[in-house]
Amino acid sequence: MISALDLDETALAQRLISVGEPAYRARQIRTHLFRRAVLDYENMTDLPARVREHLSSELPAMPLTVQQRLPTPDGETVKMLLRAHDAELIEAVSIRDGARHTVCVSSQVGCAMACAFCASGLNGVSRNLTSGEIVAQVLYAAVYATVTNIVFMGMGEPLSNFPRLIESINVLTDPSGIAMSARRLTVSTVGLVPRIHDLAATGIPVGLAISLHGPDDATRGRLVPAARLYSIAELLKAADNYSAATGRRVTFEYTLIAGENADPKHAKALGLLLAGTGSQVNLIPYNPVRGLSFTEPAPDVVRLFAAIVSSHGVTVTTRKEKGRKVTAACGQLRRTTGV
Ligand code: SAH
Repeated sequence: MISALDLDETALAQRLISVGEPAYRARQIRTHLFRRAVLDYENMTDLPARVREHLSSELPAMPLTVQQRLPTPDGETVKMLLRAHDAELIEAVSIRDGARHTVCVSSQVGCAMACAFCASGLNGVSRNLTSGEIVAQVLYAAVYATVTNIVFMGMGEPLSNFPRLIESINVLTDPSGIAMSARRLTVSTVGLVPRIHDLAATGIPVGLAISLHGPDDATRGRLVPAARLYSIAELLKAADNYSAATGRRVTFEYTLIAGENADPKHAKALGLLLAGTGSQVNLIPYNPVRGLSFTEPAPDVVRLFAAIVSSHGVTVTTRKEKGRKVTAACGQLRRTTGV
């Protein structure tokens, strides 16, 4: 089923004409969706009541509906469970922090990468999201506040859904829509080397985050099976090429898991690996997943790890846990619904 959000202005105008409405309504509807975060016809009050009723039955405004919203007690982080027309459930998270409003979006239902520690891949992948479904997640977050940043760090491997990823980036950066700067978007990948080259070739200057999770091929391969296809050496070359093509620094994500990859020797190896590359590391203390036995290291272990890596001149940040209370991290809300 097609929704108004799935159509560009020309296609929407044609669709409206085919159901007996004037073409100019396309612009009205798109202004509501993209500029005012008005996502249902009922509240598009400049449309006559008859038209709103007519469209509700002919052409849904949005490709997803909200099944559940889970705010943290301070209300600043909201996890949204969204339902697609085929009843698949998708998660998106809105995170407000001062003037910053970051939306974490999913790119697939489930994930095929099967990282050992991740909830999203426990049941494999059901399907790719459409670009309308990706954009819809951002618009549902825009209801809370103007979106300043978008991270493709929800469910799925965005580079496995490459055409729809690029399409959604084009919609999100289109000046007639919410007109985000590509520089405010970050694509997170497990590290699919050929697709990183493809992304570089588009020349779109989105930020790139690469999930490293180990300083050597053996440690990384244990946690990230998809990584076994490409060596860390190849991955670093792809990252270099990405920086050269887009002018963007690459961030390496490193989830810290007790007893797996969080020892001082791993920190030292990571520091040596990235010293002088100009890349930065984002440490993510492991967010426990029900049914998996991995645990996060103690806070002083995390601090020591960060200190060792930064002693090699590598910029290190440690992720703040904003969404844990609403099981916001990493494909976990959907699982609480028994899906
Ligand atoms: N497929 C993309 C996006 C994954 S989610 C990728 O692989 O990069 C974003 C980051 O969170 C990835 O680095 C992922 O490995 C990490 N992650 C997944 N589950 C996690 C968990 N339970 N705790 C901490 N980090 C996790």
